[in-house]
Amino acid sequence: MALNSKIEWTHHTLNLWWGCTKVHEGCDNCYANTLAHRYGKDVWGDDKPRRAIKNAWQELKRFQIEAERAGEVHRVFVGSMMDIFEKPKSLVDHIGNPLLEGENEFWNTGQLRDKFFNEVVPNSTNLMFLLLTKRPSNINKYIPESWKKNPPQNVMFGTSPVNQKTANDLIPQLALVNGKKFISVEPQLDAIDLTVKMKNSDLRLIDTVHWIIDGGESGANRRPFNTDWGRILRDQSNENGVPFFFKQVDKKLLIPEDLMVREFPKIK
Ligand code: SF4
Repeated sequence: MALNSKIEWTHHTLNLWWGCTKVHEGCDNCYANTLAHRYGKDVWGDDKPRRAIKNAWQELKRFQIEAERAGEVHRVFVGSMMDIFEKPKSLVDHIGNPLLEGENEFWNTGQLRDKFFNEVVPNSTNLMFLLLTKRPSNINKYIPESWKKNPPQNVMFGTSPVNQKTANDLIPQLALVNGKKFISVEPQLDAIDLTVKMKNSDLRLIDTVHWIIDGGESGANRRPFNTDWGRILRDQSNENGVPFFFKQVDKKLLIPEDLMVREFPKIK
């Protein structure tokens, strides 16, 4: 399934910039942060600039051309090293020089996001963009005004809870967004019940989502994952007609046969 991505539920991953600030306990072992430290890139924290990714626009064009040639729709996960709905931050270029107003085409991440929304999304009809964020309360602040009434057919908005508290907090924020929605419960750190009602609503958490991805943590500092947590989400997805994708236990242990469920949402 994956073309240039190691992530099983997408064909491609794409980053417009590199850097972020930790949001909740799911970020504790953030791979992108670890990698930034390893390479000496100072792009983590609210007061740090983000690093523009040099070839992002060319890559996006290439993804579209390849998918069109194949007559397919390819999924593009936007933001494995960033959060697309983070507040605008200043930028440095790919070698660390500050990008400045009056001298450069872009000097903050909000401008990259706007170009992506206004120019790339409408012209990439063979791509399905998966916009995953731990800041779903910012989605309606930063999407184009026209998307609020007419969300693009080639975008899914997602958020990433890791336990019941973050599910109760983040999913109702995602529910306020018009359009297709998904959750990526990665790394799952505790049992989650998606059939509980959202605060101030008759809807349950599961009623708002069109796809559920689930998996445990990997890496040297991985936290324990109980496969029964995965079974709860698998069964709740199944009972409510929501496609379910189980990604991994911890990348060391094999996925039990009954959890090897890898469904995708239907693309209209
Ligand atoms: S939101 Fe994502 S990219 Fe940002 S620190 Fe958390 S895990 Fe890392």
